[in-house]
Amino acid sequence: MENEADSIKQFITKFFENLQSTVIEKGDSLVISNVPEKFEKFYGKKSPYIFVFKSEDKNSQNEFIEKGNYLLKTISNFLEEQGSTTLLKINFDIDFEKEIKKRIKLNNCQIEKLIPKKKNNFFFRFTFNTSFQYLNEKEKMTNDIYLYENKIIDGDLASYIITEGNKRDVIMPDIKEPYNIAKEKVKELIQPKITLLAKNLSEKLSKEIERINRHFIQETQELKNNLKKSTKKTEKEINEELEKKINEFEKDKERAINIEKQKHSLNLNTKLFNTTLIYYPVLNYDCYLINEHGKRIIEVSFDPLTKELKQIFCESCENKIEIINLCSSGHIICNKCLIKCNSCNITYCNKCLNIICESCKKKICKKCAIRCNNCSKVMCKDHAIYDKVTDKCYCSSCLKLCERCQHKKESNRFKTSKKTGAEICEDCYRLEMQQKTLKEIFKK
Ligand SMILES: [Zn+2]
Ligand SMILES: [Zn+2]
Ligand SMILES: [Zn+2]
Ligand SMILES: [Zn+2]
Ligand SMILES: [Zn+2]
Ligand SMILES: [Zn+2]
Repeated sequence: MENEADSIKQFITKFFENLQSTVIEKGDSLVISNVPEKFEKFYGKKSPYIFVFKSEDKNSQNEFIEKGNYLLKTISNFLEEQGSTTLLKINFDIDFEKEIKKRIKLNNCQIEKLIPKKKNNFFFRFTFNTSFQYLNEKEKMTNDIYLYENKIIDGDLASYIITEGNKRDVIMPDIKEPYNIAKEKVKELIQPKITLLAKNLSEKLSKEIERINRHFIQETQELKNNLKKSTKKTEKEINEELEKKINEFEKDKERAINIEKQKHSLNLNTKLFNTTLIYYPVLNYDCYLINEHGKRIIEVSFDPLTKELKQIFCESCENKIEIINLCSSGHIICNKCLIKCNSCNITYCNKCLNIICESCKKKICKKCAIRCNNCSKVMCKDHAIYDKVTDKCYCSSCLKLCERCQHKKESNRFKTSKKTGAEICEDCYRLEMQQKTLKEIFKK
């Protein structure tokens, strides 16, 4: 029974691993330590345990485990009483800041600092125990189903440093949907075993039914032979008795077949033994980006399990960013969306750089845009004219040179000189008029 010993060994290994005990295989034996007190009490024996599975390995130092053994019964009872939820935490031995800095590619800015904000990510492990009971046999099967974001994943905790989790660290997520998905998966996993057992049982049952039928035929024959020997009875009496007896036999046969059917049925029981919520830090940092013109804080998160940074998206074109640029107004943008102001050469995103000089049509930034005080047209600094007298800016078409005072003045405020007929500025016109009045006074 080599196979049976193997499957018992496997079952015990899984059981203690699920209890977070240390299971070491030494040759054909299992050395189990760090067993939770809960189980030690249940079993009535303190760990470490040394289990062997072959009778020839048995000695005073170990326990020989075979089918029907006390340990197996204890485990079975323990499993039935449990159905617990465990919280585990994966600890990572990683320098997160270094990993993040390695993964962030920057073009026109630098990381000033990274300030951590703690957060967790998690996945589930559902452990199901299925018992198959048939004839006088009882078999057990344990399945671990791992789920991440409601998808089944290949789980293996062996390569991580696991410690007991703290309930305060996590908000328990909803378990219903992942549990249902895991349950369906278990059905799928146990199906081949069910099919195989059902086939074996139906073959055995057919043989039993055949045996019962043969026995019935033989009994009936015996009865007939015996009744024919008796001479005291009439043929009618013989036939009546024969019919009555055969009827009884028929009933016995049916009863026997039903008992066999019952015996050969497969009793299946799947129970959720344990739900484990395994969480691990997803490190979220506030990343301070700066360059000489702007700054911005963005959140970066690093998942130590996938060793990936959460994708950052361009705030202008909304595509994924490979290399980060900082717009001088603080936007995070991709290489394609980065443009320079044609006037000051400072970098912006194309959302921010949306002003066009009405004179030369160059794209300019807000800081470089100048509005004409007269007509409200927007210009770059090359196309705006500053008027010292009024301390205001104008576009070239709104200012005109006054021949008289040699100053540039708003063109719509020029007047025709009564003296020379030339176009002169308002101020010069006012002066002309005052001089004219003075002259008239002196004439009197
Ligand atoms: Zn972009
Ligand atoms: Zn500019
Ligand atoms: Zn911008
Ligand atoms: Zn211009
Ligand atoms: Zn103007
Ligand atoms: Zn003037």
